[in-house]
Amino acid sequence: MTTATHATPSLYEVAREQVRQVAAALGLDAGVTAQLATCRRELTVHLPVRMDDGAVRVFEGHRMQHNTARGPAKGGIRYHPGVTADEVRGLAILMTWKCSLLGIPFGGAKGGITVDPKTLSKGELERLTRRYASAIAPIIGPQQDIPAPDVNTNSQVMAWIMDTYSAEQGYGVPAVVTGKPVHLGGSQGRTEATGRGCMIVARELAKTMGLSVSGATVAIQGMGNVGGIAARLMAAAGFTIVAMSDSKTGVHKPQGLDVASVLAWRREHGAIAGFPGAAGVSNEALLELPCDLLVPAAVEGQIHAGNAAAIKAKAVVEGANGPTTPEADRILESRAIPVVPDILANAGGVLVSYFEWVQNLQSFYWEEDEVNERLEQLMIKSYAAVAGMSKERQMPLRQAALTLGIQRVVEAMETRGIYP
Ligand code: NAD
Repeated sequence: MTTATHATPSLYEVAREQVRQVAAALGLDAGVTAQLATCRRELTVHLPVRMDDGAVRVFEGHRMQHNTARGPAKGGIRYHPGVTADEVRGLAILMTWKCSLLGIPFGGAKGGITVDPKTLSKGELERLTRRYASAIAPIIGPQQDIPAPDVNTNSQVMAWIMDTYSAEQGYGVPAVVTGKPVHLGGSQGRTEATGRGCMIVARELAKTMGLSVSGATVAIQGMGNVGGIAARLMAAAGFTIVAMSDSKTGVHKPQGLDVASVLAWRREHGAIAGFPGAAGVSNEALLELPCDLLVPAAVEGQIHAGNAAAIKAKAVVEGANGPTTPEADRILESRAIPVVPDILANAGGVLVSYFEWVQNLQSFYWEEDEVNERLEQLMIKSYAAVAGMSKERQMPLRQAALTLGIQRVVEAMETRGIYP
């Protein structure tokens, strides 16, 4: 789903290269490295769906499970015209390291359908989702693989998947997906969790950098579940949000935007364009604005070899998965611009998904304060572990996060051994 105009490697190539580099640094043998660089189970499905006009269209979908050494596979489902098998594989690999880094007992998976959901009616979207859920049902389940929302999917889509799976089992199975509506067993705080985690990490990073939160300026690309909520919570924490964007364009105001008004404008007008009292800015130009923190929270491949030298932010916090290419990483490192990697910065979502799964299995539900408190504790602990290793071993934050994540997976694989 790379939308950057600059040529960027696929997320799968990036994820495999990261594995090879960390494996070489850890001295892992070739057999272990090969296991880490491939998905254990891959399912591609072709889904016939009756459209509103009576015609039948066939959509392609995937569910890829990367590694389950530490527990059932976990990862979101994306609906986007740019979804490919390789993108889903790459995202599944990232999920394994993310769960491991956060210390939650899951492996990594990802799913996706190649579709622009904005071109479908609600009925078509429901029929597509149910057919996909039925097609992947043999490999998902509370003890096998637990999907969640990602780009262009939400709690309604999760409710349809849960209902379809439950209908086929013959009884209700809320723990088969996370990110459900609260009245169907969803967790309090799940919708905000990824943005909240981003805000916590940004605050911890600001502390390490000696930046005062009040007055620190932030530019955010993307206004969906991650970017929109990160903007709202970062503003509430005292940051000054100077730029925001959606898929078409953005707005910029050096004195600070009123985030609630920007979000309300977009809800009302369907786009951020035209928001009064702020200058327009393209998505590309937003990335190069002078600011303290840059939060890419839309799609992958946005910071690349062609623009990394022009980034003026003092640090990058990756709200999206894979927004910085490896070449850009090297350029930012040489310019001493720290990058808090995706597997840490956006891990709040999977963390609260884990809490949701635990609540579903126990049929015992927590108050929102408890969810947010546990999220905060684990995000701070994980940030400290990554920042500590980065400092101690003089390595970039991404390398430290990957090393911690990969080490734990390897330990689990080695202790379990190979069957038969
Ligand atoms: P979303 O569909 O809710 O929002 C995506 C946002 O990005 C929208 O505002 C859209 O307008 C904007 N956008 C799309 N293409 C763009 C482009 N080319 N340039 C600028 N903006 C563009 O999706 P989301 O759930 O917020 O996910 C965003 C990113 O965060 C993805 O990389 C996703 O994998 C990652 N992520 C999401 C979660 C989660 O809990 N939702 C968790 C971890 C990571």
